[in-house]
Amino acid sequence: MTEAPSSKSAGSHKLVIRNIGLLLSGDLEQPILDADTVIAVNDRIVAIGRRKDVDTENATTVIDARGTTLSPGLIDSHVHPVAGDWTPRQNQLGWIDSCMHGGVTTMISAGEVHTPGRPKDVIGLKAMAICAQRSFNAFRPGGVKIHAGAPVIEHGMVEDDFEELAAAGVMILGEVGLGSVKDGKTAHQMVAWARKYGIQSTIHTGGPSIPGSSLIDKDIVLETDADVIGHINGGHTALPDSQITELCEKSSRALEIVHNGNERAALLTLRTAKELNQLRRVILGTDSPAGSGVQPLGILRMISMLSSLGEVPADVAFCFATGNTAEIRSLDCGLIAPGRAASFVLMDKAQHSSGENLLQSIQRGDLPGIGMVIIDGVVSAQRSRNTPPATRVPEVVSS
Ligand SMILES: [Zn+2]
Repeated sequence: MTEAPSSKSAGSHKLVIRNIGLLLSGDLEQPILDADTVIAVNDRIVAIGRRKDVDTENATTVIDARGTTLSPGLIDSHVHPVAGDWTPRQNQLGWIDSCMHGGVTTMISAGEVHTPGRPKDVIGLKAMAICAQRSFNAFRPGGVKIHAGAPVIEHGMVEDDFEELAAAGVMILGEVGLGSVKDGKTAHQMVAWARKYGIQSTIHTGGPSIPGSSLIDKDIVLETDADVIGHINGGHTALPDSQITELCEKSSRALEIVHNGNERAALLTLRTAKELNQLRRVILGTDSPAGSGVQPLGILRMISMLSSLGEVPADVAFCFATGNTAEIRSLDCGLIAPGRAASFVLMDKAQHSSGENLLQSIQRGDLPGIGMVIIDGVVSAQRSRNTPPATRVPEVVSS
């Protein structure tokens, strides 16, 4: 992957973040860590602890968190990128950088389906996927890591195609159901071929998203058995409640809840996962850009909505968009632990929120204010231009 820009060839870059008021781990088992200092060397976390117990000497950059909250960078499990930081869906520039200002440091493509003139023949769709994988690997708007190159399966694909895609570096499929394959039998076969070669799959769930797409119901989702039940709360139109609960109960796959879906169905999914004691399956995405636009604060809005209306503690809701997604997507980020990517969001309760602290403000439905975003050990943004202003903001004290 890309080397952190400030890790000069002369030597390693050591980042010390001290005076952290609240440390969110991203791990559902223990969402809050008892520590106030995080240390990273180059793009990796190397130590977490109390300041007196960790080695803060010889830092190249020191950040005083000033009592704010540190979380792993947020992961958007469902985006539709096209080329660089442009989306033709709403003809908008700079949308990925805007999402970085909403705390997102990693994005997963659910298919580059908005590409004008998207090829649907087999050689064409393979070429486009490989091109997208390469270009987003090499170009990171705002520093955001974008896992792209997600081909949408079409009739006529054979096992060799999946082997070839995997060998070329394609690791994910776009949403099953957005191409010509809409029957469970064919989709199951192709998803199984993809899985055999290490390619992860997602399926569109629910009614058509835009004119030209179509309904995928619970029978097709269950038969296909993709790794991620993409937007189980619809994108936008949700399945009936009974079908959503059946998907939660009969499948063991990831339950992806998106911003551009049905909020009532999102809460039903969360409640069902909680009753099944399977919150680990819950991951979050925006499904943007879409007909309803781009939501730079979409992941934060999901965390706040699920926490305030779905009655899960805010520290748990952060795990849905960090550690849970990292585990299901096999990513090296999403957790505050040695060896993980040094990608962080520092935030505080928004100015004038009625909550007494960050977690309480989110549980009351407010958004946090972001004070800094760090990706691979490098500061990508200081006070966010998009969130409400944070009460306290971290400060770079030496670099
Ligand atoms: Zn979809």
